[in-house]
Amino acid sequence: YRKTIIAGNWKMNKTLSETRAYAEEIKPMLGKPKWCEVVLCVPYVNIPAAVRLFKESRIAIGAENCHYESTGAYTGEVSAEMLKELGVKYVIIGHSERRAYYNETDFTVNKKVHAALEAGLYPIVCVGESLEQRELDVTMELIAYQVKAALAGVPADKMRHVVIAYEPIWAIGTGKTATAEQAGEVCEGIRAVVRKLYGARVARAVTIQYGGSMNAKNAAELLAQPDVDGGLIGGAALKPADFTTIVNAAN
Ligand code: 13P
Repeated sequence: YRKTIIAGNWKMNKTLSETRAYAEEIKPMLGKPKWCEVVLCVPYVNIPAAVRLFKESRIAIGAENCHYESTGAYTGEVSAEMLKELGVKYVIIGHSERRAYYNETDFTVNKKVHAALEAGLYPIVCVGESLEQRELDVTMELIAYQVKAALAGVPADKMRHVVIAYEPIWAIGTGKTATAEQAGEVCEGIRAVVRKLYGARVARAVTIQYGGSMNAKNAAELLAQPDVDGGLIGGAALKPADFTTIVNAAN
């Protein structure tokens, strides 16, 4: 069937010492691997330490971005290959904050998805509408466009490495969660887009997460939606107790 994946996105939070403290606190709480996969996407500089700290745990490490070229004159950038060699498994691509603040476009998102897959990473591709777009009632058209553009040229056999995260922009960091119904509806729509592109078998197997003010209180209801296969969690992933509660809601 398909994997449930609970992923934390730390964004630009936690120093190295805070990363260590978090690991010490959460490891005994999380316990043994169960049904769902658990991921923490952390700032680049904390990746080597995070990989080491979580080695014997059920937590896989992810990055929050990567470049679309494997090497070259791109001052300040980090390639998917570099991440792979460190022991990184997942990489968030096209987060709305990167689209809004760092000129990430559907075109660069697509190039990064290819770069991640070529390096052997699992891209977590983020899509989502703004409040204006939702009010104009173009959400599903927009999401279908973003998904199709992100996956352009990706062959069907690589799709089992691709995770899609539905993150409505108006729900990110606002405390305004999508209702379970809204989240379920768009995730179902995303699966229909994947079905149209790749067929029923690939669509059934692809993990589709919801993200946007998911927390210890609302996680269970969101995850109960049949097409919501996990979460991408910002603020609540910064607290070991809250993140653990969310993981347990998915088990
Ligand atoms: P919040 O959970 O803080 O709303 O952030 C969601 C997010 O952007 C995860 O990538």
